[in-house]
Amino acid sequence: MTPNPTPNDPSGPESSPQGESAPITLAEFQRLIRDMYLPRDVDRGVDGTFMWLIEEVGELAAALREGSHEERMAEFADVLAWLATIANVLDVDLTEAVRKKYGSGCPGCGQRVCQCPEAGKP
Ligand SMILES: [Zn+2]
Repeated sequence: MTPNPTPNDPSGPESSPQGESAPITLAEFQRLIRDMYLPRDVDRGVDGTFMWLIEEVGELAAALREGSHEERMAEFADVLAWLATIANVLDVDLTEAVRKKYGSGCPGCGQRVCQCPEAGKP
């Protein structure tokens, strides 16, 4: 459980993105994607949505090879959006998932700066 945010907490549920420079939390992003697309995402289902994610991963691969910085940014955003979409369809809270797995540091060694031996690095 997370404590209830204070009214002035920018990560609180009442806040919303305000312009391109405003921070956006993972929770806000997941909620944004949910608000925009959830009904059609549920209709499409996990399998079809997963195909879209993989297609976007392919587009990211192409942008990493020969895209501009702007093109790469767009593809990173798309991959993250489709990942959030699948999480929404399955009712997975990405913030909870990330906090659970990485919130205390490296899942392998538990350190903030990974101390795992090279062979054991995630
Ligand atoms: Zn580690």
